Amino acid sequence: MKEIRLLFAAAEIFPFAKSGGLGDIAFALPKALRKKISTTAIMPLYGFIDRERYGIAPTGEHFTVTLDGSAHDIEFFHAQYDGMDIFFVYNDTLCDREYIYGPPGEGYGDNDLRFAIFGHSIAEAVERFDFNMLHLNDWHTALAAVIARDKGVKHPIVYTIHNLVYQGVFDARFMKRWGVGDTHFHIDDMEYYGYLNWMKGAIAHADIVTTVSPSYAIEIQLPEFGFGLDGFLRKHSDKLVGILNGIDYDIFDPMRDPSLDASFGPSSIRGKNRCKNAFLKEASLKEKEWPLISFIGRFSEQKGLDILIDSIGELLGNEINLAILGDGESRYIEALKEIEAENENFYLQIGYDESLSHRIYAASDFFLMPSIFEPCGLAQMIAMRYGAIPVVHAVGGLRDTVHPICRTRKICGEGFVFESMDSKSFLAAISEALKLYKKRSSLQKVRRFDMECDFSIEKCAKKYLDLYEGLR
Ligand code: ADP
Repeated sequence: MKEIRLLFAAAEIFPFAKSGGLGDIAFALPKALRKKISTTAIMPLYGFIDRERYGIAPTGEHFTVTLDGSAHDIEFFHAQYDGMDIFFVYNDTLCDREYIYGPPGEGYGDNDLRFAIFGHSIAEAVERFDFNMLHLNDWHTALAAVIARDKGVKHPIVYTIHNLVYQGVFDARFMKRWGVGDTHFHIDDMEYYGYLNWMKGAIAHADIVTTVSPSYAIEIQLPEFGFGLDGFLRKHSDKLVGILNGIDYDIFDPMRDPSLDASFGPSSIRGKNRCKNAFLKEASLKEKEWPLISFIGRFSEQKGLDILIDSIGELLGNEINLAILGDGESRYIEALKEIEAENENFYLQIGYDESLSHRIYAASDFFLMPSIFEPCGLAQMIAMRYGAIPVVHAVGGLRDTVHPICRTRKICGEGFVFESMDSKSFLAAISEALKLYKKRSSLQKVRRFDMECDFSIEKCAKKYLDLYEGLR
């Protein structure tokens, strides 16, 4: 086969659109891959993306796809960003929205049609621009695997599951408007208890299915974490691989982060204290000597919001400051707002704020991730890079990246790990962290070690390159 020409498709790519870790990785991974192979990323050109700022221009290429009698015009755009080639797809149904998927905690009712249009655009791009390898991510791009195979595309397809909870399950009646054949309504294909499951279709049609950490690759084959697809994944276990995600150290680098008040690194850690003082002032948190504990993430059941909220009362009774940044389900927002009103040592910011998140990571002594399940998790890796020691539930990617503190410091990533998903175990792990805070030299040793650990995207990209080579 000729040189690899990879098309990497995702519904969100930082900095154009990001709702979580997928956006980070869909930027960082193609950027790292393109140093070795020809790589182009593709995403929708949502209405909120600033075309001028990023130099996004029409390619002059467009096509029309007719779905259930309705014609949908699709236009290709292109930009070069940070050395990376990116195709953007514009169609009004897909793109003219305020949010990527819907308001926080919700999805738009026509997301199936929107991402079916995106799926057709991806399959079209493969043929039109002569790509010979396709890498799809999560349910939003899963239908592209089915459409590409329907169109006779024989090139290898890699499909990555970033989160098995969101599978893209729809009423079978909708199939007509996606432009895929009835033959896919089959138990070995997209059929799923009488519904249609996009992720299942991609698993069936991809050559390789990856997921974002080795532990999660094992967990999703168990009923407890398989969300109804564990049996199908076990059936396809020969093509299932777990590759740990990584982070882009050009973006997440406290030595040269424009969002921070001071720079710092493992060998010059003083700036971290300046960042902490600046943030405490910004957040009106008074006691400067107390440890700052933080949480940044989606307010969802997955992220452990229930045990977080159950534990907060007791936690705030300690000599600590707590900072939470996030958005999501309203029941969690309401509960957190009530707690905020009664506690001076608690800072709460609802919303999505990239720069603030960097300031919080840099200011924090400890970072909480009590996720019920966690495919990989980037936040704990960012936290470690910024010298915030993680407190995590031992699950999925958290298990693979955070290990109990050990004097020999052999395995990268140290923090406080709890096994049992309950407030008691969570609070016990935090109480161990507070003990460490009092032993300054031990604290600095763990902090330095975590900051030096290599969780770079380059490590992850190398594994993907080996995998593509294998497929070639
Ligand atoms: P997810 O399951 O949401 O993808 P990850 O830990 O893999 O979780 O990645 C989350 C990413 O989104 C991190 O870069 C984190 O800093 C960022 N993030 C999450 N919530 C917010 C927020 N409210 N504001 C800014 N950044 C956020």
